[in-house]
Amino acid sequence: TGGEALLSVSDLHGWYGESHVLHGMAFDVREGEVVTLLGRNGAGKTTTLKAIMGILPKRTGSVRFGGTELIGEPARKIARRGIALCPEERGIFASLSVEENLLLPPQVKPGGLSLDRIFELFPNLKERLSSQGTKLSGGEQQMLAIGRILRTGAKLLLLDEPTEGLAPVIVQQIGATIARLKREGFTIVLVEQNFHFAASLADRHYVVEQGRVIDIIPKAELEANMEKLHAYLGV
Ligand code: ATP
Repeated sequence: TGGEALLSVSDLHGWYGESHVLHGMAFDVREGEVVTLLGRNGAGKTTTLKAIMGILPKRTGSVRFGGTELIGEPARKIARRGIALCPEERGIFASLSVEENLLLPPQVKPGGLSLDRIFELFPNLKERLSSQGTKLSGGEQQMLAIGRILRTGAKLLLLDEPTEGLAPVIVQQIGATIARLKREGFTIVLVEQNFHFAASLADRHYVVEQGRVIDIIPKAELEANMEKLHAYLGV
């Protein structure tokens, strides 16, 4: 492999109040890579993304981004460094139109995509420009949610279960978009339970259980590890 990681997570612990849920998470992502965090419900994948973003206040260990330590920094400062989270609940505003939703995130860093570029990536959204957030299909809402974080200028995207609840044809569209973002140089951490979707996209898979990584499976070794993966995920 070689090359320094853009994001390097090591010995990451995290708590909700007294409840200790991350127990030494560790993984690396180099620039331009897509990696997945795979694991069952409650394994700690979402919490890991929140800890990276600084939304989980109680965390220890190390999260280095471009050589800078993020543990101890507040969420807004971390966002300004060029990391964006697309949450599982999508975080779009139901009462606002597609256009208003897209214009809402501030350009925290130069280099955020223009509306035209976002519509090039998601032609469906252009047709729905003045539709209210609530009137969108699940797939359109997910595209809007990803579109919004591309506005921020972030180069590292944390995507939390983007395919959840979506029809297979829409899942394919989201997959094609993620593949394109990778080709355009974005670095992506993808949380997924649908690993058939993730399989073709990711350079490497980190299997998460009880708040830590219990296995690492490079893309080339996926086929040979299929049975083991099924057992990990309980599918
Ligand atoms: P899921 O697919 O269900 O989101 P996950 O792997 O992302 O699974 P997390 O959501 O990170 O898992 O949850 C890790 C653990 O933390 C679980 O035991 C969960 O019950 C607990 N947890 C999650 N959110 C909270 C919260 N706000 N307060 C307390 N405990 C929480």
